[in-house]
Amino acid sequence: MDNCIFCKIIKKQIPCHCVYEDEHTLAFLDINPISDGHVVVIPKHHAEFMHELPSASASTLMLAVQKVAAACTTPYNILNNNGELAGQVVKHVHFHVIPKTDNSGLRGEWKVLQDKRDFKTVQAEIVQRMK
Ligand code: 5GP
Ligand code: ZN
Repeated sequence: MDNCIFCKIIKKQIPCHCVYEDEHTLAFLDINPISDGHVVVIPKHHAEFMHELPSASASTLMLAVQKVAAACTTPYNILNNNGELAGQVVKHVHFHVIPKTDNSGLRGEWKVLQDKRDFKTVQAEIVQRMK
């Protein structure tokens, strides 16, 4: 999709801090993390909703979500918003993997991390933990 920001990231027209990539999937740091190490996992196939994905894409996506989750060193939330009313802003399927270090909530109390650590450092740490 020409005007989709995540498709542009897949095509490397927009840079990202990638932590995982395979044939069907890409995972990278969320540009506005709500916790340290907040990752977005996306299919390379453009679809707005999870149920629209081809099964090979959906199943590989879930395995990638699991890999990223396994690299968390704390409890974590996995969040997948489908549709505007559900809080979806970017209309390309994505799963948030959000490490939890305190009892802050999600939507409604969604606060961008103010003291973001250097993304290259966070990226390298996650990639290393996924090895
Ligand atoms: P949604 O609210 O649609 O579930 O989440 C979309 C997420 O994509 C947001 O958390 C937002 O910070 C992230 N995002 C939007 N644009 C970009 C971008 O250009 N690069 C990265 N890395 N993340 C983005
Ligand atoms: Zn897209």
